[in-house]
Amino acid sequence: GFNCGIVGLPNVGKSTIFNALTSAGAESANYPFCTIDPNVGIVQVPDPRMDQLSAIVNPQRIQPTTIEFVDIAGLVKGASAGEGLGNQFLGHIRSVDAIIHVVRCFDDDNVVHVNGRVSPAADIDTIHTELGLSDLETVEKKLQRAEKAGRSGDRKLKDEAAFYQRVRDLLDQGKNVRGVAENEDERLWLRDLHLLTDKPVLYVANVAEDDLGGEHPFVGQVQQIASLEGAGVVTICGKLEAEISELEGEEKQAFLNDMGLAEAGLDRLIRSGYELLGLITYFTAGVKEVRAWTITRGTKAPQAAGVIHSDFEKGFIRAEVIAFDDFIACNGEAGAKEKGLMRLEGKEYVVRDGDVMHFRFNV
Ligand code: GDP
Repeated sequence: GFNCGIVGLPNVGKSTIFNALTSAGAESANYPFCTIDPNVGIVQVPDPRMDQLSAIVNPQRIQPTTIEFVDIAGLVKGASAGEGLGNQFLGHIRSVDAIIHVVRCFDDDNVVHVNGRVSPAADIDTIHTELGLSDLETVEKKLQRAEKAGRSGDRKLKDEAAFYQRVRDLLDQGKNVRGVAENEDERLWLRDLHLLTDKPVLYVANVAEDDLGGEHPFVGQVQQIASLEGAGVVTICGKLEAEISELEGEEKQAFLNDMGLAEAGLDRLIRSGYELLGLITYFTAGVKEVRAWTITRGTKAPQAAGVIHSDFEKGFIRAEVIAFDDFIACNGEAGAKEKGLMRLEGKEYVVRDGDVMHFRFNV
């Protein structure tokens, strides 16, 4: 599956948010592996379109899609130099597909701040520095190896070494490596480095309950940094989300209404994480089950079918596709067929978010 690692300095609210995320998932369904281990949780992706489909199809079962969250505690100043089990945690970050960076934006005298005061910009900078230093070490090693090998005169190895030098110089200046790769070779070399600072990032501004509605200078700091990086920001109150995640159904809705919230902040966070990973959803809708399936944007029909079962991909013949809006507007498959809105698509069809799919395949 695809996963997001939750990082941030100690005492910023990571565990509170992680626990709320995973307990909210546990409440809502028959999903057997809500918590794989204490630090990894499988979380259902909330999608109101499933309710719309189900109202038409009346299935026996509704199966949302999921993503994984990993609570990566222990990142502290000096981590890249091995402080506080630092390298081990950096290794965990290396293995995730995207990073959710929790930043403390709440004041609370009862909760110690590692630097003695709440300062989002300084906190973000501390984390960036650690990730950058770790990346620098990674590149230095590769560079040394490539330079050594390049002495044989091999053109390609020399190019590779030169590329690593460019990457190193950027990291040295504390700059981001995004956009550094200029051709296919360089893109491959960059990917193989698995740099921490090259992963997509979403910031979570963890604010006090009273600051949820309005603007706050702490959140402003996060937004300013995020916009320079082209990253997103989700503002939530971790403490409040922990309370909301204990509630279900009407009780939950009533609580949200009281708070003047359209939806739980966690739902926004999960969806933003899903987008950050470049993921989209297609549906299968039958009387047995209405189900959401996850693919990366740009996936073609046979590979999308392969997410359900590898036989679907191997024996793929064609897909019957109804766009989500058409399916709803025509009150289901029969109506869409009648209006000529069910399309037959072949191997080259790029699946779109919300497509209701039915696959034809050889066994
Ligand atoms: P972590 O070290 O980043 O995992 O942080 P924790 O989730 O363990 O939270 C550290 C402390 O901050 C705990 O005492 C939490 O109850 C508290 N905390 C977390 N989120 C909030 C919040 O939104 N507001 C306030 N006031 N306290 C919070």
